[in-house]
Amino acid sequence: TVIDAGWNIDNSYARLPKSLFSSLSPNPVRSPKLVIVNESLATSLGLDPQALQSSAGVAVLAGNQIPDGAEPLAQAYAGHQFGHFTMLGDGRALLIGEQITPQGERFDIQLKGSGRTPYSRQGDGRAALGPMLREYLISEAMHTLGIPTTRSLAVVTTGESVIRETELPGAVLTRVAASHLRVGTFQYIAKWGALDELRILADYTLKRHFPEADENRYLFLLQQVIKRQAVLIAKWQLVGFIHGVMNTDNMALSGETIDYGPCAFMDVYDPATVFSSIDIRGRYSYGNQPRIAVWNLARFAETLLPLLHTDADEAVKLAKDTLSDFAELYDRYWLNGMRAKLGLFNEEPQDRSLIEDLLSMMERHRADYTNTFRALTFDELEDMVLFDTPEFVKWYERWQERLERQQEPKDASHELMRNSNPAVIPRNHRVEEALEAAVEQGDYRVMERFLDVLSNPYAHSPEQEDYTTPPAPSTTPYRTFCGT
Ligand code: AMP
Ligand code: MG
Ligand code: MG
Repeated sequence: TVIDAGWNIDNSYARLPKSLFSSLSPNPVRSPKLVIVNESLATSLGLDPQALQSSAGVAVLAGNQIPDGAEPLAQAYAGHQFGHFTMLGDGRALLIGEQITPQGERFDIQLKGSGRTPYSRQGDGRAALGPMLREYLISEAMHTLGIPTTRSLAVVTTGESVIRETELPGAVLTRVAASHLRVGTFQYIAKWGALDELRILADYTLKRHFPEADENRYLFLLQQVIKRQAVLIAKWQLVGFIHGVMNTDNMALSGETIDYGPCAFMDVYDPATVFSSIDIRGRYSYGNQPRIAVWNLARFAETLLPLLHTDADEAVKLAKDTLSDFAELYDRYWLNGMRAKLGLFNEEPQDRSLIEDLLSMMERHRADYTNTFRALTFDELEDMVLFDTPEFVKWYERWQERLERQQEPKDASHELMRNSNPAVIPRNHRVEEALEAAVEQGDYRVMERFLDVLSNPYAHSPEQEDYTTPPAPSTTPYRTFCGT
């Protein structure tokens, strides 16, 4: 008999218009083996971690079996990839269904790497172990950093190889998301669907993510999606996260970070930082992320025009007005986030220049982004080039004077800084080290230790010290890849 892992699946997406998806079963894999499972996430979903690790549990995580009541499907979507519009869809992912938690919350359960779908185009529908572990590691780090994100429930190896530049071990990742509704989902329906379908999709999105919608529901939808993206991108900027492939199909309407292909964290502060091997022109560089978000949101607004107003000119006017909110919202979240990183509770007009002056010094002196703020938090100003420069010494005085002008005591500032400046981020050389041990040696201890250290990035505990060292200077820049 099968131990019930606690699956409690609903299939609301499968009740949407048929053009939005293709029903199909996952492709079975040869010999599934669980390599990592997220026990705390499992528990919060109402799943039994032990049962998930049994062979029946693993069969579900590998796509060899589907939970009772699940109606798996691949979602259709379109998207602008590096600015070019194209039809896409789940090419190597399958929505198993929506888990309803004991608290009544709804989460998409999606298998990534589960085989070909009608949207696979030339792809094999499969995923390699290294990139799936990378997604697991970085998405969990984002979560503990306090950044909205899809999460990773488990990774299983398939016992099959996938062919990339070389032969690699295959794997399936179970992704958990508030939903997989994307800007690209709306682009797909707006381009090829009927107005009725667009309205149904918008109503579905509202019900799922913004149930408090008022009379102008579709304008509200646009406003809320914009707001969540402003929050999200500000949080990315504040920790130095570079998504790497902000195509419109990779922008989730829930406001979660999605698609951990070529993402990476910045070490040295430089707005031009790009890690993705294919981002030749720096479209998705660190400093460009807020601008790209607006561009993507404009594509989203376009899809909603027929719902915003019966008069086309009025609809455009509404969309434009609403889009213009992003800059202000983003700036406010970012500025307040930066204030917190510097221990500031109240607002003064000169705060912006205080912050910008620090950032531009960091850029000129190639200072490590995370460690600079960490050093400021603990007033440990010894071992960085930046701290010896006369301009920094002047800036430091200005900052101290600014801190003294606020009412809160030094202790409170320190506490605020501790909670706003992580000690550890998933630095690229550490990520690579963990993945190498796991994939090459089958040794998951390095990754598990790293996950443990990342589980509270604001702890500033002695065990974290070892993980704060930036990579050694290298002549070859770190590079990331999509779709492996
Ligand atoms: P991404 O760049 O990760 O957002 O992926 C873009 C599109 O390529 C999506 O429609 C993916 O489902 C699809 N895709 C990526 N890798 C594969 C693969 N190995 N097989 C089939 N489709 C894929
Ligand atoms: Mg994607
Ligand atoms: Mg991807």
